[in-house]
Amino acid sequence: MTATWSRPPWDILQPTPGRYHFLVTGDAAGTTSEDTDPTTGTCVAIVPQSTEADVAAAVAMAKRAFLLRGWRNDGALRARVLSDFARGLRANVDRLAVILSREQGKTLAEACSEITGSADMVEYYAGLARALYGRSAVLGDDVHGVILREPIGVVGVITPWNWPLTLLVRSLAPALAAGNTCVVKPASLTPAITVEALQILAAHEELPDGVLTCVLGPGSVVGDALVGNQDVDMIAFTGESGTGVSVMQRAATDLRKVALELGGKSPNLVFADAHMDKAIDGALNAIFTTTGQICTAGSRLLVEDSIYEQFMHRIAERVEVLVLGDPLDPRVGIGPVVSAGQKRTVEQFIDIGRHEGRAVCEAALPDDPSCRDGSFVAPIVFADLPGSSRLVREEIFGPVLVADSFSSEEEAIVKAEDTEFGLAAGLWTTDLDRAWRVGRALRSGTIWINTYHHFYAEAEVGGFRHSGLGRQQGVEGLYEFTETKHMNFDAGASLW
Ligand code: NAD
Repeated sequence: MTATWSRPPWDILQPTPGRYHFLVTGDAAGTTSEDTDPTTGTCVAIVPQSTEADVAAAVAMAKRAFLLRGWRNDGALRARVLSDFARGLRANVDRLAVILSREQGKTLAEACSEITGSADMVEYYAGLARALYGRSAVLGDDVHGVILREPIGVVGVITPWNWPLTLLVRSLAPALAAGNTCVVKPASLTPAITVEALQILAAHEELPDGVLTCVLGPGSVVGDALVGNQDVDMIAFTGESGTGVSVMQRAATDLRKVALELGGKSPNLVFADAHMDKAIDGALNAIFTTTGQICTAGSRLLVEDSIYEQFMHRIAERVEVLVLGDPLDPRVGIGPVVSAGQKRTVEQFIDIGRHEGRAVCEAALPDDPSCRDGSFVAPIVFADLPGSSRLVREEIFGPVLVADSFSSEEEAIVKAEDTEFGLAAGLWTTDLDRAWRVGRALRSGTIWINTYHHFYAEAEVGGFRHSGLGRQQGVEGLYEFTETKHMNFDAGASLW
């Protein structure tokens, strides 16, 4: 395969003092870590690491910025800053997309859509920054209540590596729009895209000092210090369910608020009356987007038994011709998984699947020699797995689909619901009554009907059960970052 694109020079996170003033990485020893390109296995950036003291300093700055009040009482200022941030993301889409694609491994097309989608999300919350209305109530003769929505204070935003920009702005934009101040801790595997994007926001001349800071380093040290800091009033965490539980336990000791967006094992149900071509496209998009590393991945395909064999045959035809390789190559449909560690994890699941079930089909690894040391996992589809298999029950976060059949609507619902998660589900049917019935029966934050993986800034997302607490996006996503306060006015005579 011939490379038709050029690789950018990468030194973007060299710890040059003052280059990224919102980064709090004051370690005198100059501790750094290497940021690796999962396509080639080469180092693409040297990343300065924050210490626990840096986290404390960042939180102190955020607390002071919150208490100074200018930011939290000026919705028009917040709207201007966020609008300009969105504009900056759009203006830099080409540059940021290459960084995202290189660092994370997603295709350039997906990276571009992540950046423009993130800009859209920021624009949406820029609008809402000026529309954070409360209510008023007449509560009696001469008694009135004004019910305000107020910002909470300092918000710690902790993000994962799979959609690092979308999942950052999905918390950061509403938190700032509501008037909070924020300390961001990105995933250790995707610091570069986070810092480069935040640089656009931090450079805004009207953004008060301390409203935005960022700390870098491992979750077990830097993330833990952020969660454990009692001046962090709320933690907006996106990541694995197990990590979410420990974040919540840590915050519970002093009753601080958490919003948790966690893992999934989403069912994708295809009924015999579905539009077949659309459902096949949908099933592939559901599992192989971001090389299967997406929380809403439709990783459990459930197909009505009368069309099961035919459907799986057509899925196999498509999987076997999937093109893996360098995600900057426009001919490539699937990039590597994010790291060598993630590759090992996914391969362990695949080994179990080969013992416990049947591999229906699999794709080929890349033939591009420059990908030889990359973290590639060939997409694979399993059938005939026992319901107790780890492949059926656990989130794999890789390009591994498990398929099963059902014989009735009731059985479809029972199988779909046989999970501890509840993040998303897909339904493919031309029967609107059935779509409504089944959609209402499934306990998931998002139900896609004859589509999959469509997200909108206006529409809430979030999890039932082990998939999370609270909602992000939409108006509810803004309200997550507020407290409600009742100001009670009594204009009557003496109280006694
Ligand atoms: P992860 O839980 O390992 O890490 C997420 C973030 O938490 C990282 O920044 C990490 O450094 C930090 N962290 C780790 N341990 C911590 C601790 N003890 N205290 C504080 N912070 C800590 O998750 P990941 O591997 O980065 O991301 C993949 C997971 O994220 C998957 O489970 C996926 O389903 C989930 N996810 C959920 C959503 C959603 O919207 N529900 C979206 C994307 C990803």
